[in-house]
Amino acid sequence: MDKNNIPKIEKELKKKTKMVALVAPSFITDFDYPSILTQLKKLGFDKSVELTFGAKMVNREYHKQLKNSKKLLIASTCPGIVETIKLRYPKYVKNLAKIDSPMIATGKICRKIYPKHKTVFLSPCDYKKLEAQKSKHIDYVIDYEQLGELFKKHKIKKSKDKKLFDKFYNDYTKIYPLEGGLAKTAHLKGIIRKDEIKSISGIKKVMKFLDNPDPKIRFLDVLFCVGGCIGGPKTTKKLTIAQKKKKVLSYLEKSKKEDIPKGKKGTLEKAKGIKFTY
Ligand code: SF4
Repeated sequence: MDKNNIPKIEKELKKKTKMVALVAPSFITDFDYPSILTQLKKLGFDKSVELTFGAKMVNREYHKQLKNSKKLLIASTCPGIVETIKLRYPKYVKNLAKIDSPMIATGKICRKIYPKHKTVFLSPCDYKKLEAQKSKHIDYVIDYEQLGELFKKHKIKKSKDKKLFDKFYNDYTKIYPLEGGLAKTAHLKGIIRKDEIKSISGIKKVMKFLDNPDPKIRFLDVLFCVGGCIGGPKTTKKLTIAQKKKKVLSYLEKSKKEDIPKGKKGTLEKAKGIKFTY
């Protein structure tokens, strides 16, 4: 997969290829909800789905593994972390969770629910492009900057329509792009003590920890960018991390009040038969 998927995506849109947009909750740093859903539709996407259900399925695997093993587990949801560990800390490769990221998990679910659609991930960073390249479940990736450019190029303005995601609603995992989002949503109470969990965002701090690890820690929930994915290099530079965090939290609160039809919710049935580990 090339780093720049725009020409290919535009070609697919022109051909009216059925495509599903995989939207991570960090989108809210750069786009409005629910406006983005109408905008994606106008751009030519047939479906838009949330990554939050994929995150829930990923969480279930973390829960299971932390329950059944005492060895240090390092979250592998962020490809920036995975690549850094492979390159700089090979002794920790064995500790990386062999669990899909929410992007890959959602890609797998989409292959089941929308088998004829191409999957397009909307990304806050380039690392996700590398991760997608290695997966057969994601066909294209465009980052938030590129998506903003596409909306501009095709003169697609913000919309007041109340469109909903087509599928896979799950509210509480909307905090996944924040530091500690995984640990806070994986229902780890009673599985592992609080002081055995360390959540860190920002690669400098992560490396500092890995250089001088605390042996008490059993779960390292780490993200490459400062603040988490809300600090991704392809997210807007116009807002501070604190402002972006506020947007995610307010998106979560609003979503909790939304009346979502049952068919649009992320139910276990939709992921039945899919393996989220490797
Ligand atoms: S933390 Fe940064 S590098 Fe990692 S997935 Fe999120 S945006 Fe990408």
